[in-house]
Amino acid sequence: MSENPFLSALISVLSPQQVWTHPSHADRMQPYEQDWRKREHGKALAVVFPNTTTQLQAIVRLCIDSGVSIVPQGGNTGLVLGSTPNTTGQQLVVSTQRMNRVLSIDADNMTLTAESGCVLAHVQQAARDQGLWFPLSMASEGSCTIGGNLATNAGGTQVLQFGTARQLCLGIEAVMPDGSVMNVLRGLRKDNTGFDMRDLLIGSEGTLGIITKAVLKLWPQPKAQVAAWLGVEDFDDACQLLRLAREHMGARLTGFEVMNPLAIALVQQHVPDLKQPLPQHTGWHVLLELTDSQSLENLSADTQALIQSCLDSHLIQDGVQAQSFQQTQQLWHIRESIPLAQATEGLNIKHDISLPISQMSSFVQSVESDLQKLIPNVRTVNFGHLGDGNLHFNVQAPIGVAPAVFLNQYEDAVHELVFACVEKHSGSISAEHGIGRLKQQRLRQHQDPSALHQMRLIKHALDPHGLFNPGVILSSPDTME
Ligand code: FAD
Repeated sequence: MSENPFLSALISVLSPQQVWTHPSHADRMQPYEQDWRKREHGKALAVVFPNTTTQLQAIVRLCIDSGVSIVPQGGNTGLVLGSTPNTTGQQLVVSTQRMNRVLSIDADNMTLTAESGCVLAHVQQAARDQGLWFPLSMASEGSCTIGGNLATNAGGTQVLQFGTARQLCLGIEAVMPDGSVMNVLRGLRKDNTGFDMRDLLIGSEGTLGIITKAVLKLWPQPKAQVAAWLGVEDFDDACQLLRLAREHMGARLTGFEVMNPLAIALVQQHVPDLKQPLPQHTGWHVLLELTDSQSLENLSADTQALIQSCLDSHLIQDGVQAQSFQQTQQLWHIRESIPLAQATEGLNIKHDISLPISQMSSFVQSVESDLQKLIPNVRTVNFGHLGDGNLHFNVQAPIGVAPAVFLNQYEDAVHELVFACVEKHSGSISAEHGIGRLKQQRLRQHQDPSALHQMRLIKHALDPHGLFNPGVILSSPDTME
């Protein structure tokens, strides 16, 4: 038993194996205390691993009694410092890692019920095993959890047709900051019974409750999937291609990714083993994904026709269509290697932004020109889910300037410039990664004041002592400002 009465109480409601503390478990605790990008290393009072909702509820009740704040954690792949503790050594990390079972699949209702610590790839596989499909997909799917996906309202590669995590979830169970278990774990597509508590928790990043279970929507396995890699001259042409692809393919267009020349050049340089589909193309690149519930022959022929008509009208300069599932995977692998290639090139200033598609071209032009005025020869790595209006707009040091020096000198100024331009173009400073502790200050600057005020009121009503992920989304002292 620990000398700390709170830790002793934790061990008594769990088991010693489910409670890790300093100094005995210090090494094993490290990955739970450090964020994915290794920007910050916090220190937890303990990391706990409940197996069930009942155990998690007991933990929350102990925290309420002792005034200990909680950091919920799933796969810890979040990119905005929301899932790791601060440096005080006073926060409890509650990992859902052991709550990882797929509980049931209802094939008639087309739903799957899972515990929140279930890894996304396992949910996808469980659906596939029944001939069904869960479309949420992203590069972190081997580690991120359903609870984390819902808490961040994650996006990924299939938003164009299926929406974000919010649109894929019908019901949840959660432990709330008053210690109760809220059970709205219903698989209903229509349910107008007052405020939507499920939607309130989705996207709340662990600040309003800890999600313990979820009912997720499934679809029939698509019969056919085709990917194509196309080369366009510039961003404007990529936007025009999106319009055309929508016109030709309708709802069968399930992915539309755009990548600027530098993004691909960095992949070529730092991940040379990857075979480039258009090695000679010097303009922008587009990765299209098309999905059909009918035949592969039809989908393939329609895609070929689209490519041919774009070549004929000179909208694209070059293009290839994947001929197999393996080739499709290879194309996605190139797109998903951009963050790694960028990291190898050196630290950079990242933005995960969204804009109305009609504003994107004007945004890219003005932000690029303003950045060049601020930092001559600065490089931008611009890629993302164009079909969803979502860009990962990252700013890299000019060649020859040390990345650390660049960040030190320009990080704030670059954020200011980019976010001001986002606001001017009616966009959002966070498209899919959330706010966390990283963008909490920026939210104060860029969110509508009344919306911010309502958020603070809700937070205070549900969590009056500010014990659930304090400092995430809203800064803790200003909860009631
Ligand atoms: P964590 O990182 O553990 O937590 C994220 C937030 O959710 C934290 O605030 C945490 O407190 C809270 N939380 C976690 N579990 C719960 C729970 N059960 N109840 C309440 N709150 C909880 N994101 C996208 O949207 N689209 C992408 O395409 C994408 N690609 C990525 C690619 C890579 C290589 C990486 C590293 C990340 C990517 N992300 C992407 C970001 C990240 O994977 C997602 O935000 C993911 O949804 C986080 O899930 P997680 O289980 O790792 O959550």
